Amino acid sequence: MALGYDSYRPPGATSSHSERAALDVPFALWDACGEAGSMGVETMTAFRMVEWGRAPEFVEVPIPELAAGEVLVEVVAVGLCHTDVHLMHASVGDYGFPVPFTLGHEIAGRVVERESPWGELTEGHAVVVAAGPRCGICLACLRGQDNLCAGRTSGRGWGRDGGLARFVAVSRRELVPLDSLDPVLAAPLSDAGVTAFHAVCQIAPKLRGAATAVVIGVGGLGSLAVQFLRQLTGARVVAIDAQSHRLAAARELGADHALLASDATHGLDELTRGLGVDVVLDFVGTSDTMDLAIRSVRSGGAVGIVGAAGGTVSIGWGRLPNDCDVFIPMGGTTADLHDVVALVEAGRITIDIERFAFADVVAAYAGVQAGEIHGRAVVEID
Ligand SMILES: [Zn+2]
Ligand SMILES: [Zn+2]
Repeated sequence: MALGYDSYRPPGATSSHSERAALDVPFALWDACGEAGSMGVETMTAFRMVEWGRAPEFVEVPIPELAAGEVLVEVVAVGLCHTDVHLMHASVGDYGFPVPFTLGHEIAGRVVERESPWGELTEGHAVVVAAGPRCGICLACLRGQDNLCAGRTSGRGWGRDGGLARFVAVSRRELVPLDSLDPVLAAPLSDAGVTAFHAVCQIAPKLRGAATAVVIGVGGLGSLAVQFLRQLTGARVVAIDAQSHRLAAARELGADHALLASDATHGLDELTRGLGVDVVLDFVGTSDTMDLAIRSVRSGGAVGIVGAAGGTVSIGWGRLPNDCDVFIPMGGTTADLHDVVALVEAGRITIDIERFAFADVVAAYAGVQAGEIHGRAVVEID
């Protein structure tokens, strides 16, 4: 992957996109992909982290060069993730990778044909891009656990160039073909989708017989977990959230019961006659939600802490039921993404998104940060 684009300024170029914005040039008039300067270097507009602690900016960068095994993808849509907001507010040293880089790690688009098309993927084929890059040769990758790739210290959209640009270079291994699915709907599957799916797959073996599964926090990821639980298991699904409109949406998506967070302890007690639930997936991850999860689970159960709100909980003899697993899932594998795409293509999963134009990406991220997005925010690259 090419890095260090911001040190590049095309000959004759006098302003960055943010500077052009200040000059009030309409976004639609900008060339998303043009010839810059006398050297004829092909460029594109990218939304990039240029310095830690500074807001990201539109910057003109060269179209990526392809390394061996890579395919050029014309980006159609990018899902926005809360992780991006953390990156925007990070200080020097918070992360183990340098700026600059283009943001956006939930990417979907179309294959651009280069000299050698890869397998069944020919020009124009719609694809969703798995989180990566992943080395493909470490033990974790070879075992099919490429979400745990040992060679990974940065990724597309966090340390390496991501999808908030016209083009991105991706290893063929990390492209999942789409059939009828709109790339705009597919983009959030590569992170939000697989993360929820991977967590559900980890606890599914615990959901035997008349089991109860609890999902705490039914926003973008949690609402997907509710649906995957319905598709993959026979468990009764209980949604818990602080916001009643999210609970109503979760009920529509298949949750059997919905409890306000303030009433959760009492409600779960009633639903299980005091026996506790089989599994809890906590998509919030505060100390309060983790405490609720540990208190609610029964012997032999499992608690997955997916949300990264920074909470802690103490675990030890007498504090956790016997034979109970507590784990922190890590994203999803490329194989998970193939499964998720198949489920969505089959019409079994509803993807809720809010669409934004590329020019409005700053406002879209403000909505993500404020928790105002219904489902997942997706930016369409036009
Ligand atoms: Zn993410
Ligand atoms: Zn690896």
